[in-house]
Amino acid sequence: MKISEILRRKRVSLSFEVFPPKKDAPFAPVAEAVRRLCAAKPAFMSVTYGAGGGANVNTLAVAEEVLAHGVDALAHLTCVASSREKIAGELARFHNAGIENILALRGDRTDEMKESGEYGHASDLATDIASHGGFCIGGACYPECHPDCAHLADDIANLKYKVDAGVEFLVTQMFFDNNIFYRYLAKVREAGIGIPVVAGVMPVTNGRQIARIVKLSGTYLPSRFKAIIDRFGDDPAQMAAAGIAYATEQIIDLVANGVNAIHLYTMNKPAIAEAIVRNLGSIIGMD
Ligand code: FAD
Repeated sequence: MKISEILRRKRVSLSFEVFPPKKDAPFAPVAEAVRRLCAAKPAFMSVTYGAGGGANVNTLAVAEEVLAHGVDALAHLTCVASSREKIAGELARFHNAGIENILALRGDRTDEMKESGEYGHASDLATDIASHGGFCIGGACYPECHPDCAHLADDIANLKYKVDAGVEFLVTQMFFDNNIFYRYLAKVREAGIGIPVVAGVMPVTNGRQIARIVKLSGTYLPSRFKAIIDRFGDDPAQMAAAGIAYATEQIIDLVANGVNAIHLYTMNKPAIAEAIVRNLGSIIGMD
């Protein structure tokens, strides 16, 4: 089913992200994680894609696993290091495998990539996917502004190019303060962007994870969240329980404020997603 259709339903949509195994890493543990995650009945499941050509064969293989468990799949696709010919090949493979949804992404540039690639922005990729036909296209968005862009207003103006190119829904970068998301959503709507915006939530269950996340994305950490890391970050069991509780609360607040679509960055850890679904169960009608 097309994700645009899923998001039109009245009920809350809780979806999951997984990443494929790295090249030469075993497939079976990821397949097992997918099986358990699918058993939790997400609205759909997304599968990430390497920006530099790495684990891309596995993106389709993992998306096929998702479909085989009866869950709708959203395959990510990056264009930063790609050619129009390679993208056409990927679209044909996705289409032949029955994938109906693609998250059109630029990907992150590395120094080696400076001169490579025929695509400037995700909107160029969205244009190509739209002209191929048959796919529901999603795009990424950044409540705290994309790191390459100096001003949020410019980033939102650039977001409009993606929507004009055929993007039908957006998935946000993770955030830990819901007020940042609410303010962002108001600005996106003010800019005339009316498509669904799926809120990305990352359950942090490992203190060290946080340093990496903040370095990569510049995500703001509320003091309440920092206190949790300070108190429980060195104890894996305590940190996992506290991270699950924080993400659960974040989702309940989003739903209470009328946000009907939430995407959980599962980090391929089914136990974490299962715990959150258990906590939410009757609140969002998943049980
Ligand atoms: P774009 O939409 O092209 O935006 C990138 C920058 O260019 C922004 O600063 C924007 O303001 C600016 N811009 C956009 N259009 C224009 C224009 N026409 N003119 C001038 N400036 C413009 N990375 C992966 O490698 N694999 C993944 O699977 C993956 N999945 C992701 C999923 C989500 C939900 C998110 C939020 C990110 C994901 N990423 C992934 C990371 C993403 O690839 C990086 O954040 C990348 O730097 C930007 O990708 P984009 O698609 O948002 O790019």
